Amino acid sequence: MRNVVILGSTGSIGTQALDVISTRRDRFNVVGLAAGGSDIELLARQVIEFRPSHVAVARGTAVEDLQLALYAEAQRQGYAHGDHTLPRLWAGPRAATELAAVDCDVVLNAITGSAGLEPTLATLRAGTTLALANKESLVIGGRLVTEAAAPGQLVAVDSEHSAFAQALRSGARSEVRRLILTASGGPFRGRRRDELAEVTPEQAMAHPTWDMGRVITINSSTLVNKGLELIEAALLYDVPLDDVTVVVHPQSMVHSMVEFHDGSTIAQCSPPDMRLPIALGLTWPDRIVDAARPCDWTTASSWTFEPLDGDAFPAVELARRAGQASGTAPAVFNAANEECVDAFCAGRIGFLDIVDTVAAIVTEHLSEPSVDSAEEARHVADADLTVAAVLAADAWARERARQLTAGG
Ligand code: NDP
Repeated sequence: MRNVVILGSTGSIGTQALDVISTRRDRFNVVGLAAGGSDIELLARQVIEFRPSHVAVARGTAVEDLQLALYAEAQRQGYAHGDHTLPRLWAGPRAATELAAVDCDVVLNAITGSAGLEPTLATLRAGTTLALANKESLVIGGRLVTEAAAPGQLVAVDSEHSAFAQALRSGARSEVRRLILTASGGPFRGRRRDELAEVTPEQAMAHPTWDMGRVITINSSTLVNKGLELIEAALLYDVPLDDVTVVVHPQSMVHSMVEFHDGSTIAQCSPPDMRLPIALGLTWPDRIVDAARPCDWTTASSWTFEPLDGDAFPAVELARRAGQASGTAPAVFNAANEECVDAFCAGRIGFLDIVDTVAAIVTEHLSEPSVDSAEEARHVADADLTVAAVLAADAWARERARQLTAGG
């Protein structure tokens, strides 16, 4: 029996994780759930169904709503008054971080964005296994996260990084030549740069193979997600960024590959379904029987691979540059992008402006600061990296992105 905490339980990954757990109640016990607080009814339904002893909500004012929703849901499900014990409720911006430190076997961090950093660090400090969907925390925290993790403590949930972990079991680390990171190419694969200018948020949200949360879906359309994954792969598996190659594979059946130095390439394949890497993340290194549907080899199908068009989708090379600069540069890349995604969804900027603005902010961060530059605008090198420096760089990049996307 594994005692599990799920951070971001009402999101795309969180709900799929609970779906995996719901059919294997003999293997998992949910001890804690955390959410932002935008869908209190869903959180209340999850609490009644999985009976965690701890629940955290980031929106401090949501506690009363949650209590009311819990009573209403318990009543709807036929519990007599007083029959259902309320979990311990934690509220406020640090609630998920506090929950991450409770006694359990595995914390699944499925929060979106840089808000996941402190919960990631709290999990690692508590000595608990971290099933990491929130790639942003690893990307921005860099060595702060990798150095906090004991061997085997950090388990990837991203399908590509789960694929690497599975393929890496085929040989020794010293035999690895490079990692091949597959990308679906998103909804605009095949378009030239000039054909992307008029793309709308609705079109960007229509991912061809994966059904995901808003930020990661837009990031998949710009290929920023692949840029984040490039840095994530290099950090997780201690491989130089130049030894990670991105290849476009529109069918999303091969989730990534490892090339060994004898010329052999090991690929991990399965239909696109996050329940497989989520299940493996919760039980690594063991597998769960029938976690997801396998490939169907009885009907004809074609899997294709093509190089990435770096002119139409410059986000991957920009991420490589930020990753090579390391220190606070990846945090600036990520935070500027999150703000630009908001500005794009709100109709304030065009599709191409997302990565162009992020590039301008990363360049500004990496250039020689002028005497009157704000302290937070300065690049902090890897050797001097602290959580405070990461958060300051994150805040500066957001503010700078807000200025640039407001036309200021
Ligand atoms: P969603 O936006 O669907 O869900 C995010 C979840 O996090 C929601 O439950 C949200 O609650 C919660 N949340 C946000 N802020 C906080 C906070 N401060 N404290 C506690 N909970 C919070 O995102 P996804 O599930 O799509 O993605 C989650 C992570 O997994 C991302 O890092 C993404 O890159 C990664 N990932 C996702 C994949 C997918 O298929 N979706 C695939 C691979 C990786 P609320 O809505 O109330 O704010």
